[in-house]
Amino acid sequence: MPEAPVITVPVPLGDRAYDIFVGRGLLAGAGPRIAALGARAAIIITDENVGPLYADALAEALQRQGLRATTFAVTPGEATKSYASLEKVCDAVLAAKIERGDLVVALGGGVVGDLAGFAAAVVRRGVRFVQVPTTLLAQVDSSVGGKTGINSRYGKNLVGAFHQPSLVLADTALLDTLPIREMRAGYAEVVKYGLIDDARFFDWCEANWRGVFSGGLERDEAVAQSCRAKAAVVVRDEREDGDRALLNLGHTFGHALERITRYDSARLVHGEGVAIGLCLAFRFSVSLGLCPAADAERVEAHLAATGLPTRLSHVPGGCGSVDDLLDAMAQDKKVKGGALTFILARGIGQSFIAPGIAVEKVRSFLASETG
Ligand code: NAD
Ligand code: MG
Repeated sequence: MPEAPVITVPVPLGDRAYDIFVGRGLLAGAGPRIAALGARAAIIITDENVGPLYADALAEALQRQGLRATTFAVTPGEATKSYASLEKVCDAVLAAKIERGDLVVALGGGVVGDLAGFAAAVVRRGVRFVQVPTTLLAQVDSSVGGKTGINSRYGKNLVGAFHQPSLVLADTALLDTLPIREMRAGYAEVVKYGLIDDARFFDWCEANWRGVFSGGLERDEAVAQSCRAKAAVVVRDEREDGDRALLNLGHTFGHALERITRYDSARLVHGEGVAIGLCLAFRFSVSLGLCPAADAERVEAHLAATGLPTRLSHVPGGCGSVDDLLDAMAQDKKVKGGALTFILARGIGQSFIAPGIAVEKVRSFLASETG
């Protein structure tokens, strides 16, 4: 079967440069692209939901190119980003006799990508890895940028490494089997890129989101544009010393909500927290006199149209009191000296880093949101 048009997004990071390929049906033709990296063997790390759907097709595509390919599946879910799973994945990589020139291929969502990428960063002091992201969130966010890692009892993503992939293959057809809730959650991150600095992309999202969800060419375009946006930020600030923080738009509030709901995905998944967080960031900006109210209303209307939650009252089981929310925010790494750093907006596509926002301003805003 001929491949649909493929969009290439380069990530120009010097000697760590790589390409992201985006297109429907890429998996079947993944063999030559991965084989071009020059490995003799690959281990596919996946999870028990994704593996049965796609791992055989990928392994066969590799084997047709003469690569030795094995598969190792982990339990789905955030709890798998653990020391225990890291040990299992590292041992599986070693058992598969993956040498320095060989490849770890992450086939799955952000959980698999972060875990397999971290294993690739540390096994034999670093082997190359390829991302084959299978969730919208992973295609537009976690597979790009080289952050890998696991969770610790002290918090999420606290143990990890920067390890750029050698190649990212985003086959948008794989999203056809993704549960709608996960699709929406990833879409919140797509919208985020428009809100950060690309008002025209936000306009495009308003006009084209149905095609993104139904799997038309709009989906490929949304994934590619999101990858371009993330790649541009990553290239400017690979190790997050500066404006990579803009990618946290909506995340200070979002992370607080995830913490309050105890990372229970039955209540809230990350992208749902981000959707509410984006709306809160815009309404907070309005309340500070920075942003026209009409822009905040547009953000909320668009996210709500896709079925995403937009308000604190939409958190299943409630979001606690204003003090609970402030406590949860105070645990965020973006807190310095009693004041909070927020990503705020002067309008759609006009976000900026705002350090030193007084806690009292946040408190009165949250009181108006919960009251
Ligand atoms: P996930 O990996 O848990 O996947 C969500 C669910 O969808 C899982 O149950 C999975 O098995 C299933 N699934 C995946 N692909 C499927 C498909 N094609 N068809 C059917 N089911 C499928 O969640 P996620 O949202 O992809 O990733 C979340 C993780 O990503 C978090 O751990 C987060 O910290 C991390 N993350 C990392 C970065 C980064 O820069 N490294 C950025 C954002 C998020
Ligand atoms: Mg996010």
